[in-house]
Amino acid sequence: MPLQAPYDPDNIFARILRGEIPAVRVWEDEHVLAFMDVFPQSEGHVLIVSKTSTARNLLDVEPEALARLIAATQRTARAVVKALAPEGFQIMQFNGEAGGQTVFHLHFHIVPRWPDRPMKGHGHAPMAEPEALRALADRIAAALD
Ligand code: AMP
Repeated sequence: MPLQAPYDPDNIFARILRGEIPAVRVWEDEHVLAFMDVFPQSEGHVLIVSKTSTARNLLDVEPEALARLIAATQRTARAVVKALAPEGFQIMQFNGEAGGQTVFHLHFHIVPRWPDRPMKGHGHAPMAEPEALRALADRIAAALD
């Protein structure tokens, strides 16, 4: 999938945003949605997407939508740290298939890290149970400022 391909309105995150398929939502407003990655690379792996932009990747996104997205990522990361007390975290964002991207609706990953827990590979993590994700999402949501 090249970097400049057209936006597919039926990509999985667009379908989540339209409520056509379920997702474990952490928080949302009119601009952004934070939800749990269903194949978490570590406990508490959260994804942040824009509700208003149809950017596929960092090259396409309008600066205002990007500003809202990164501010939402920071807000969510603060809550993840407060709720789960990781010793660090990674922000990941992949562009194009060759860049490791698998869903072509721009998003940021928050992956909490602990020194004694290896991170699972991107695209190689097992699917999590919805109940476990809901419990984590509730803890993160309760820690939002
Ligand atoms: P990327 O490879 O950066 O495009 O990331 C896409 C992410 O979406 C991966 O980490 C997947 O585990 C995650 N993912 C795929 N399908 C779903 C889904 N239905 N709900 C939540 N996360 C998903």
